[in-house]
Amino acid sequence: MGLNFECEKCKGTGLIWGTSESNGLIYENVRDCDCMLPAKIDRMLKKSGVDYEKYAEMSLGNFLVDTDEATKMRNIATAFLETRNSVGLGFFGKSGTGKTHICIAVCQEITRQTVMPHRYFSYRGEIQKLKSVMYDKEAYERKIAELSRVKVLYVDDLYKLAKNGDKFPMQDLQIMYSIINNRYINKRATLFSSEYSLKEITDIDEATGSRIYDMCYPNICKCEGENRRLRRKH
Ligand SMILES: [Zn+2]
Repeated sequence: MGLNFECEKCKGTGLIWGTSESNGLIYENVRDCDCMLPAKIDRMLKKSGVDYEKYAEMSLGNFLVDTDEATKMRNIATAFLETRNSVGLGFFGKSGTGKTHICIAVCQEITRQTVMPHRYFSYRGEIQKLKSVMYDKEAYERKIAELSRVKVLYVDDLYKLAKNGDKFPMQDLQIMYSIINNRYINKRATLFSSEYSLKEITDIDEATGSRIYDMCYPNICKCEGENRRLRRKH
C-alpha cells in the first residue's frame, strides 16, 4: 500500500501520532505521514477518469508554448493555480489548440499540490450514461449529487455532438444545468472546454452559459488559433 519502511518520521507505519490540549485535557491524534502522499496522489490520479498515462503527456511543462495564444492559455492556467482568481476556468474554441491538454495539466497540478481529487467528465460519454439512468430517479440523483460534490470537475467538450437537427435536446441541457448550477452555488472548482464559444453556449442555454461565465471570469480563453495538431504533420 505504498508504505515507506525507510521513513524516519513514521518508521514505516504511515502514521504520525501527536497530542493536542483542549480545556486542560490531553487528546491523542493521528495523521498520515507525508511519505504517504505520493501514493495517495497516485491513487487519486488513477481514479479520476483520465487514462493514467495521459498525465505524463499532458503536463504543464509539456504544453507547447509556440504561439501568443498558447502563451495566453498557459498564463491563465498558471495564474489560476497560483492565485485562484476565479472558481473555474474555461477554454472555448477550435479543436487542436490544446484545450484538453491545458485543462488536464491544471487538474493534475491541483491534485499534486493540494492532495485533492479531481474528476474528468467527458461530455459525450458521460451524458449518455446519465441519460441512461434518468428513468431511475434515485440512481440519477445519486450521480448528479456525486458530480456536484466532487472537489474539482473538468467538463471536456461541452455539448459535443449534442445537436440534433437544429436543436439541442432539452434533457442534455437540463442535466448539464443541474450539475453546473449546483457547482456554481457551492463554488466548486470547475474547468470547461468546448468547441463552442461561450457566446454560443449562452445562446444554446442562457442559464448554463451565464453560470459558466460567473464561475470562470476573468479566466475565459477563446482559442481560435491554427490547428497545431495538423500543422505538426506538414
Ligand atoms: Zn513516513
